Amino acid sequence: MDKQRDIAIIGAGPAGLAAALFLARAGFSPTIYERFDEPKPVGSGLILQPTGLAALDALGLLPAILERGNRIERLYGTDAGSKRVVLDVGYDGYGNGRFGLGVHRAALFGVLHEAVKAAGIPVVTSAEITALRYIDDRVELLASDGQPLAAAGLAVDASGARSVLKPQASRGNEVKPLAYGALWASLEWRGDGFFTNALQQRYERASVMIGVLPIGSITPGAERLAAFFWSVRLADAEQLYADGLEAWKARVAGYWPECQPYLDQISDFDQLALARYGHHTLRPPVAERLAVIGDAAHSTSPQLGQGANMALLDAAALAAALTAHDDVGAALAAYSRARRGHVALFQLLSYALTPFYQSDSRLIPYLRDTLVATVAKVPPMPALLAAMVSGTLFDPFRGAGLTEPDWRSLAPASAT
Ligand SMILES: Cc1cc2nc3c(=O)[nH]c(=O)nc-3n(C[C@H](O)[C@H](O)[C@H](O)COP(=O)(O)OP(=O)(O)OC[C@H]3O[C@@H](n4cnc5c(N)ncnc54)[C@H](O)[C@@H]3O)c2cc1C
Repeated sequence: MDKQRDIAIIGAGPAGLAAALFLARAGFSPTIYERFDEPKPVGSGLILQPTGLAALDALGLLPAILERGNRIERLYGTDAGSKRVVLDVGYDGYGNGRFGLGVHRAALFGVLHEAVKAAGIPVVTSAEITALRYIDDRVELLASDGQPLAAAGLAVDASGARSVLKPQASRGNEVKPLAYGALWASLEWRGDGFFTNALQQRYERASVMIGVLPIGSITPGAERLAAFFWSVRLADAEQLYADGLEAWKARVAGYWPECQPYLDQISDFDQLALARYGHHTLRPPVAERLAVIGDAAHSTSPQLGQGANMALLDAAALAAALTAHDDVGAALAAYSRARRGHVALFQLLSYALTPFYQSDSRLIPYLRDTLVATVAKVPPMPALLAAMVSGTLFDPFRGAGLTEPDWRSLAPASAT
């Protein structure tokens, strides 16, 4: 079956927007369908890893995102009681100058959305797609009233972790809810007692985790922000609200007094969004005339900070596969193959690592703070851990048709 050049993308998150840009550059005609009245970002901050940055570089968007984000050179965690450093992983483990970038979601969204508008890619809003129907060699997008809204040669499901379309794809679509989530807020950056170029965390066993991530500004030159998060067992969330804001603030300050300037900015629980996490991996992320990308194809806890980056890699890999194969079925199989190893490894690692940071276990965090913290300093572990946080443990670039930028020629490294 010959490929058709019009492609319907469902969802205007990082995956959908990036896919539209990659596909338009490859000569396809993408249209994005988004359920919101206006496309908009959801949530606080995230880390763009070298993988996601390489994808943005391929789209010519690296300067724009670097201008907004905050360079991250290491992940640094201490035990609340002993103040011992139990996590200290640098990005530059191989001496190649790699780094991460803390960004506000709105900054990532803004950069991608502006590029979509500049490329003249249509974005249809208030379009909630609830099912797909196949007619001859076309796929129809059905709205919630069951009526067809549009038809295309290929549909791309980029509608996120709660995708209602993904069951059409394959096995692995049942989302396993995770016991712990987190309260997140975007606050004004306060540097006293914090590294400017690190994600910093503080733990008590694995039941308490507090994090501060510098995320730069939403637009160049605007106020600098930090993403602040508090890990919470979802079953305890109601009790936390019932105990009141001041009780929660006192707990946070007890574990990490330097957070007071952040706590002072919070006057209502409404400033904190409760994020729930689930885990699923589609095997394979394709079906007839359907490619599934981003969180719709694979969601997990954000412990390894790979989700948005994997979404950007999926988008690049899909466009590369459709460019290389005239037959849609062959292109979808190639996309699935190109992403299989990387997605499987990082989904497994995220799943396996989550209890080290978010669980009721006493033994696992004890091992983290003793055995793992010690072994992590012994070569080649620093380099391996750097590759793990960078998302490069399994070559993510070749399958996605990407090459790494020359990291050293980008923003200069700084002392953290
Ligand atoms: C608290 C938290 C912290 C995180 N930290 C990191 C991090 O540090 N690094 C990292 O890489 N990742 C992180 N992630 C994960 C990252 O946010 C996701 O992986 C990423 O947003 C996935 O992008 P996406 O485009 O696939 O889905 P989404 O961002 O969920 O976008 C989906 C879009 O589809 C639209 N949509 C949904 N259903 C429909 C429908 N039926 N019809 C039409 N439109 C629809 C939605 O409105 C939305 O605009 C974190 C996630 C959370 C929750």
